[in-house]
Amino acid sequence: MTPAAARKTVLVIDDDAIVRLMSSAVLDEAGYRVLEVADAEAGLERFALDGADLVLLDLLLPGMNGFDACARLRAHARGANVPIIVMTGLDDGSSIARAYDVGATDFLTKPIVWDLLPYRVRYALRASDAFQETLRSRTLLSRSQALVNMGSWEWRPREGAMVLSEQMDRIAGLDASPTLPATRQSLLQGVDEADRARLLQALDEALTLGRPYSLEFGLTWPDGTRRRVLEQTEVERLGDDTVAAVHGIRRDITEQTEANERIRTLALLDPLTGLANRLLFGQLLQQRLALASRQATRCAVLLVDLDRFKMINESFGTRTGDEVLKIVGQRLREGAQALGGGLDAPAEERIARLAADEFAVLIDDVQALHEILDLARALLQALEKPFVVVGRELALGASIGIGMTPIEGDDADALLRNASTALHAAKQDPAGERIRFYEDAMGSAVNRQVTIETELRRALQQGELRVFYQGQVDLRDGRAVGAEALVRWMHPVRGLTGPVEFIGVAEQSGLILPLTRWVIAEVCRQLAAWRDEGRPAIAVSINLDVKSLQSAELIPHVAAELARHALAPTAIEFEVTESSLLRDLEHAITTLHALKQIGVRLSIDDFGTGYSSLTYLKRFPVDALKIDRSFVKDLPQDASDAALTTAIIAMGQSLGLELVAEGVETVDQAGFLAQRHCFLIQGFLFARPQPAAAFADWLAAGPCTPPRLARPGR
Ligand code: C2E
Ligand code: MG
Ligand code: MG
Repeated sequence: MTPAAARKTVLVIDDDAIVRLMSSAVLDEAGYRVLEVADAEAGLERFALDGADLVLLDLLLPGMNGFDACARLRAHARGANVPIIVMTGLDDGSSIARAYDVGATDFLTKPIVWDLLPYRVRYALRASDAFQETLRSRTLLSRSQALVNMGSWEWRPREGAMVLSEQMDRIAGLDASPTLPATRQSLLQGVDEADRARLLQALDEALTLGRPYSLEFGLTWPDGTRRRVLEQTEVERLGDDTVAAVHGIRRDITEQTEANERIRTLALLDPLTGLANRLLFGQLLQQRLALASRQATRCAVLLVDLDRFKMINESFGTRTGDEVLKIVGQRLREGAQALGGGLDAPAEERIARLAADEFAVLIDDVQALHEILDLARALLQALEKPFVVVGRELALGASIGIGMTPIEGDDADALLRNASTALHAAKQDPAGERIRFYEDAMGSAVNRQVTIETELRRALQQGELRVFYQGQVDLRDGRAVGAEALVRWMHPVRGLTGPVEFIGVAEQSGLILPLTRWVIAEVCRQLAAWRDEGRPAIAVSINLDVKSLQSAELIPHVAAELARHALAPTAIEFEVTESSLLRDLEHAITTLHALKQIGVRLSIDDFGTGYSSLTYLKRFPVDALKIDRSFVKDLPQDASDAALTTAIIAMGQSLGLELVAEGVETVDQAGFLAQRHCFLIQGFLFARPQPAAAFADWLAAGPCTPPRLARPGR
């Protein structure tokens, strides 16, 4: 016998006393507790009082009939899930159907086969238990999902069936909508526009290829609240390896993300400036160094130290000092952002405050040294602007030390140490140079560059530059037909310096623009002076580098200088190298046309070294080609140079261009050229570059004696 407490209760409602008696007997025998009543009203009362695990209900009752009783039982708070077996003598479909409609679980027809009754009851109870269990676990699942802010779904692609847990709606910020059939769209509810494509693709791959995913994305609730969500999936496969189901779990991780962010902020960011602290910067640096060594790129660290910061702290108090540091952080951030280039980590990681007034900037993927110099200079400039703090205007400066890869072991500490050594050198620099690279073989070349640049800036201001003139001669009569202006630097210590020493640095530092301006102005001034002295006019050509050619200032400057000295535009010519023309073809062509518009002559310098094709050549509005010295040097012995020179001359002639051969030093070279009808010569054979006065004397001395050529070309 089953103990009473565990016994299930069956409530029998029938007006037939025999039925009540019999069912009591068999069910009691089978271990059930039986309650019996004779009509519906009494049955409902008894159910309300004691409840029951199962109800046996006769449909034909005096008073309230069985259908109504069944409906009332179902409506009862405890009756929703109780199995109700109706008993009917009317073995007809319509009443059975009606009974189901009002909530019956099963039916028995009278006369009842008593032996079978316990089995029917047991079966109904078992089914009910299973149902209750499912219900309980669903509720439990829903509750626990709610607790951890998690939803789940299951998608069976074969059946096209998709099930979402209620919590999925809550995660999307919606009220649960269990009635809506779930679709792929249900998974996209509220998902941020930017993340949709990614999620859809992952879903598709999970369904078709069986590739599970783990994806973090943003979600926006209907009320505008932004959430962060993590979805992870698992794939269930069939025997033939096709996808049976994809199970997904979606978790709202907004709070964790925010908490992590807060922890990170506290642990890794400098609270004063919001920049990275030493720890975070070190981590990023280590990571970037590893990447750089794998990809064979270069990294640099700029250490920025404020000058006079200590004094500000001491004289105005730390509050003022803090304000200054905040502004410094801001300026560094803006400065580094403005330069962009390879700086892909967020500013607050790439820029750090390492110590009280020491900051660091990390540069990734360095392409050229001058990128770093440009950045360092921009940062210095930004820090030299006055700081307005609590109504005071304070002036500060900074020094920058730079460390660069490659370094041994790609060690972040070593790189920082190098930068620090360089910083120390910058702070002590006797010449007041505020930017220093770490000194090793590479570093010292860079430092030399920095030195030249500083000095060149001064040279421009203090008039240390000179223009030398090299005559160009027509072989046919020995007369000077023009001259090339070649810049020189009269260095106070090193003496006269040629352009190869400093033009490159000028080009990399932007000093080339003022330099070109100066040369143009100086040549115009000189030409006017010679004219005013009554000397015969001679055309002077001026070299243009790529930056000057691209500068918007060029055209107006040329026009202004010509006008200022009342010079004919044909008094000057510009030489542009082939390679700089090819650098930015369309822009170069536009500029050349604009120069032609002014009326100056144009030529292509170092011709033959830049691989320009005939097609390009036709598009450049130039008057002359200057054959590069490298072709002339080994003439006439070198067969390939001879062939190339011959070809260049033929090409120039076919385009109707004038030809000037550069670097002609020997009679043989001149002879070779003359034979091919290239008569205009610039070279030491007739004249070296010389100061204006010496050049004027050379001109005044009259035509050069045409050299006796081996085989005269005329
Ligand atoms: P470039 O424009 O090709 O100038 C010709 C160079 O060849 C000059 O060198 C000249 O002194 C040298 N040269 C001329 N004839 C001979 C010769 O017979 N034998 C030898 N060995 N050399 C000869 P320099 O003055 O040293 O100038 C070098 C380069 O610097 C120039 O090449 C030009 O590209 C650049 N440069 C000079 N002045 C300026 C300037 O004002 N602006 C710019 N942007 N570049 C300039
Ligand atoms: Mg030249
Ligand atoms: Mg040249």
